[in-house]
Amino acid sequence: MTAGRVLLLVLDGISDRPCSELGGRTPLEAAETPVLDRLAREGICGIMDPIGPGIRPGSDTAHLSILGYPPDRYYTGRGPLEAEGCGIHMEPGMIGFRANFATLDREGRVADRRAGRIHGTAPLCDAIEKEVRLKHGISFRFRPGAGHRAALALKGADLGPRVSSNDPKTEGLQPPEIKPLTREAKDRRTAEACNDFLRQAGAILADHPLNRSRKEEGLPPANTILLRGAGEMGRFEPFADRFHMQGSVIAAATLITGIGRAIGLESVPVPGITGSADTNLGGKVKAALAELGKKEFVLLNIKGADEAGHDGLPVQKREFISRVDTALEPLLSLEDTLVVACGDHSTPCSIRDHSADPVPLVIRGEGVRVDRVTRFSETACAEGGLHRIPGSALLPILLDLVNRARKYGA
Ligand code: ZN
Ligand code: ZN
Repeated sequence: MTAGRVLLLVLDGISDRPCSELGGRTPLEAAETPVLDRLAREGICGIMDPIGPGIRPGSDTAHLSILGYPPDRYYTGRGPLEAEGCGIHMEPGMIGFRANFATLDREGRVADRRAGRIHGTAPLCDAIEKEVRLKHGISFRFRPGAGHRAALALKGADLGPRVSSNDPKTEGLQPPEIKPLTREAKDRRTAEACNDFLRQAGAILADHPLNRSRKEEGLPPANTILLRGAGEMGRFEPFADRFHMQGSVIAAATLITGIGRAIGLESVPVPGITGSADTNLGGKVKAALAELGKKEFVLLNIKGADEAGHDGLPVQKREFISRVDTALEPLLSLEDTLVVACGDHSTPCSIRDHSADPVPLVIRGEGVRVDRVTRFSETACAEGGLHRIPGSALLPILLDLVNRARKYGA
């Protein structure tokens, strides 16, 4: 017997280094994790270099790698993936940007890079999509993301991705013009289109009723847009063609839903998911179980531990991991399914960023050679039967376990 389906649970940034606040343990070691531990006891464990030993992954490149899309071939920057995650259908060649709504003061300097953490910006995006007109036959989409975030996508002949950002990064400075980073005409065309877009959008925002009422309430208006992360959308072979499984993605981060959509996974919305510690964990797990009734592959990303790592808060990270574990309980009764749990990278509280330390991994389900590991942690999994694998090996191993791998040779 082999399992027919795969649930890939990515616990974003879950792994760490020893923390003095936790008596030299990692937050994962210090957390109460009976569910993950049972998966480890009933499964085969190992550690994984998401991209390769010593390579510090971003969440985007790590996810591409463990989904079987080598980032050196497929990664063209964060912008196009964010745009896809904001619901824009990105065709190959389109140029995508991450965007922030921000506040300019009377002198045109950035007073708040997040416009008072504004949310509910769809009316602003709609007005901009309706009224802005770009030259040279260039069309665009501009859609909201979570909170103050949004994404811009440009479509037109001969547009290049190598342009600068207008985000001054610190408050009190004027946003610079966007400039081409090469002498190529196509990059110049993109920079011109961006500056034209920003001028027109600024005029629409200045006068928008939503901003007028924010000013009346004493809130910072979202009167400008900061663009960054420019990239050209690449061509992704659909996941279903590559791995012979239909799939879905469930994630709060638009970057991850964007990666999923780019490779042809269906993005499943879950109400109340935030990408932070207050996210609707139960709702995400329930949605994943429902998808497994319809598809052979589900990617479920849970983000909060990464955030605690970036904030350098080991105790909060430990507590979030314990809460995640409780929410995972329904996974234990899944049948005919490989349950795979891993990180996408480590986010050590001590460095407040991603590190190249390998991540723990467990595969539990029909057919796996159960090893002696009884705990899901960075050090316990290192003694498991999978030993240490690169992220690029994960999908081939899973395909073999669900009996969908093609034989190499006679
Ligand atoms: Zn991540
Ligand atoms: Zn991170």
